[in-house]
Amino acid sequence: MNKTENPLSKIVIVGGGTSGWIAAATLAHGFKNSDLEIELVESEQIGTIGVGEATIPSLLIVLNSLGINLDDFIKETQGSFKLGIQFEDWYAKGDSYFHPFGSIGKPIAGFDFFQCWLKSKAEGDPTPLMAHSPEYVLSERNKFFLPFEARNTPLERIFYALHLDSTLAGKYLRKFAENLGVKRTEGLIKSVAQNEEGYIESVTLDDNSQISGDFFIDCSGFKGLLIEQTLNAGYDDWSHYLPCNRAVTVQTEKTGETKPYTVSTAKEAGWTWRIPLQHRTGNGYVFCSKYISDEEATKTLLDSVEGKPLTEPRIIPFTTGLRKKAWYKNCLALGLAQGFLEPLESTAIHLVTRTLAFFIRMFPDKSCHQQLQDEFNRRVRVDYEEIRDFLVLHYCTTKREDTEFWRWCQQMKIPTSLERKIDFYKVSGGLIPGTEELFQPTSWYAILMGMQVMPERYNPALDTLDANKLSSILSQGKQGLIQIAESQPSHDEFLEKYCRAKMP
Ligand code: FAD
Repeated sequence: MNKTENPLSKIVIVGGGTSGWIAAATLAHGFKNSDLEIELVESEQIGTIGVGEATIPSLLIVLNSLGINLDDFIKETQGSFKLGIQFEDWYAKGDSYFHPFGSIGKPIAGFDFFQCWLKSKAEGDPTPLMAHSPEYVLSERNKFFLPFEARNTPLERIFYALHLDSTLAGKYLRKFAENLGVKRTEGLIKSVAQNEEGYIESVTLDDNSQISGDFFIDCSGFKGLLIEQTLNAGYDDWSHYLPCNRAVTVQTEKTGETKPYTVSTAKEAGWTWRIPLQHRTGNGYVFCSKYISDEEATKTLLDSVEGKPLTEPRIIPFTTGLRKKAWYKNCLALGLAQGFLEPLESTAIHLVTRTLAFFIRMFPDKSCHQQLQDEFNRRVRVDYEEIRDFLVLHYCTTKREDTEFWRWCQQMKIPTSLERKIDFYKVSGGLIPGTEELFQPTSWYAILMGMQVMPERYNPALDTLDANKLSSILSQGKQGLIQIAESQPSHDEFLEKYCRAKMP
C-alpha cells in the first residue's frame, strides 16, 4: 500500500455563509499539519441567507473537536441553551407536546424504558412519558443546570444544543478559520471554467481575477452555482411529502425569560418558530404557498410574535429535496446548495457538519474515485431520507381538520420507509434503532406519543416484571428528577453567570 501520488493541494470553497465557514474551519483544523491550501470566496453584494439559529446537540461535539471554547462561542454569538422543542397545536388546536434531546429514562431490569412506561400505563399509571425526561423537566421550569454539580444525578446524562445568531456564528467561524490560514477572497463569481471531462478548474470573479483549485466545495446557497448551474447534478424534489415551500422571517425584541427550548406552533398552512437569543428573538413562519399568500402569512407571523419587530419581514422561497449527487466530479455541495429540509427539527447545520465528516472519512485525491463519490452520495441520501421521514411524521399524524392544509396532511401519501416504521411501532410498541441514525427511538416516541399514536400493546416479555415494583421505580425516578431540577438555576441566571454576551 502506497501514499497517494496525487494528493489534493488546493480546495476552493465558494460561499461564506454558515456552511462555507464551517467547511473552512473544519478542513483548516483537520489539515493544519499538511500543505493543503484552502481559499474561500464570497460576495458581500449577494450576502448570506441570515437564518439558521436553532441547532441540535451534535454541534457541540463539532465545536469541541475544533477546540472551540463553548462559553466563548455562546458569548460571541449571543447564544442560549436548547433542551428540545415545544410543539404547540400540532395534534389539535390547544394541544402541546415536547421533543426533548437525549434519552427518556433508563432501562429497568434490562428492559427498554419506553416498554416499562407502556406497561405501567397499561396498568393504570397516568404519568406522561415526559415526566421521565430530564430535559423536559428542566424546560418546564425554565431551568438550566451546572454540569459539574450534577455528577451522579440524572442530569449527568442530559443532552443540549444551542440557539445562536447565525450572522455572529459566521463571523466567529471566519475568524477561527482565518487564524488557521484560510484565505478569504471577496468577489462576485461571474464564470466557472471546466476541463474536457467537466471537472471544475477555476472560477473567475467580476474583476477578472481567477481562482484555481483541485477540488471545489459549493456553499453558494440554494442556486448551487457549481453543483447545479455548472455541473447540472439534478435535484430530487420532495415537495409531495413536505409541501411547505416558503418562509417569512422577522427578528423581534426580546421579551420575558429566555426559554431553554425552541417553540414550534402549527398555523393554518404550516408552522411558526420562536428562537430565544440573549439579545433578541428569531421568528419565522414556514408555509405552503398553495394554501396561503405571502401577505397572509406575514400577517399571521406578525400577529403571533411577542416583541416589537426589529427587522422588516423577509420572504424566503425554497424547494424541499436533495441534489441527485451531492458530490459530483471534483465538486462537493454543502448546506443549501446540497439540499433542503424545512427547519422543523433544526437539522441543516447538523447536515453540514455530518457531510463534512463523511467527506473526511472518504477524502479523495485528485482522481476523485467514482466509488468514493457513490458511497458518499448514498450515505448522505440515507441521512436526508431519515430526517425527511421524521419530519413527515409530525404532519401525517395530525388530527387537525380546520384548514385545507391540515386535511391534506391527514390523507397524504407517506414514504414507504416511514409507513414500515409506524406499522412496526403499532404492533410492537417499539422501534429498531438504526446504526448511524440521527433520531434514535426516544425521539420517535416523543413525536408518536405527542401526536397520540398509541401502539396496540407493550412487549409481553415485560409481564415478568412486577407491576407494583415497576410503578414504585418509575415514581421514585420522577420525584428524583423534579427535586434535582428545582434546585438548578434558571436559564437566565445560568447565562448571566457563565455566558452573558458582550453588548452588541
Ligand atoms: P448562504 O447563507 O445562502 O450563503 C451563500 C454564500 O454564497 C454567501 O456567502 C454568498 O455571498 C455566496 N455566493 C453566492 N453566489 C455567489 C457568487 N456568484 N459569487 C460569490 N459568492 C457567492 N438551519 C439550522 O440548522 N437551524 C435552523 O433553525 C434553520 N432555520 C432555517 C430557516 C429557514 C427559513 C431557512 C431557509 C433555512 C434554515 N436553516 C436552518 C438552514 C440554514 O440557514 C443554512 O443551512 C445555513 O445558513 C447555511 O446556508 P449556506 O451557507 O449554505 O448558504
